[in-house]
Amino acid sequence: MNQQSVKAVVKELVQRACQLGANDARAIFASDISVDDNLANLCQERQCEYYGLSVNCPPNVTGPSGFRELLKNYEHAIIFKIDAPTEVLLSDNRHKLFRQLHEIAVGIEQSAVEMGYRNSKAYAGGSCKPLFCQEYTSCRVLTEGGECRYPRNARPSMSGFGINVSKLMQTAGWSMDRIIRETDPNVVSMGMLSGLVLIG
Ligand code: SF4
Repeated sequence: MNQQSVKAVVKELVQRACQLGANDARAIFASDISVDDNLANLCQERQCEYYGLSVNCPPNVTGPSGFRELLKNYEHAIIFKIDAPTEVLLSDNRHKLFRQLHEIAVGIEQSAVEMGYRNSKAYAGGSCKPLFCQEYTSCRVLTEGGECRYPRNARPSMSGFGINVSKLMQTAGWSMDRIIRETDPNVVSMGMLSGLVLIG
């Protein structure tokens, strides 16, 4: 890969992320991405109601070990974020933001592919099942062996691979309060959603 052209490409992709609706985006090195098995374990059935319901979620993804192997093929990545009020993140309106997150990730990936980086891969957050296939009983890939219904919208969640999002945010210089069900919006007023695109 030509180092000079990669520099130009990642710079353009950072701008592209913001055009697509991200509040900020940064170019990072793939070596800045850390993977933690314990984080992937949090997806398990008792923790997430969507565990196993999509081909993009555990146990249907390659998980931390597969991601570590994949990462060896990449040198560069883009991370981006969407800032959002805690109140929205804790309400049903969060689904709209999560859909936007997936779509920005796909948009960056597609731009990278168009610029010749055909192995670029996007990751978002949240299961695609409730975001895009809510009205369907099941994920088409899992039950029919067919194509994803929303290939231009849905991407795997970072969680299922154990990607350490907090560390990524620190690398980007973004301070992040983790929003959980019990978070009081009067104490923590803003949170963020984030996505990652490997460029290669
Ligand atoms: S078919 Fe639906 S649930 Fe399955 S991967 Fe695509 S968007 Fe996700």
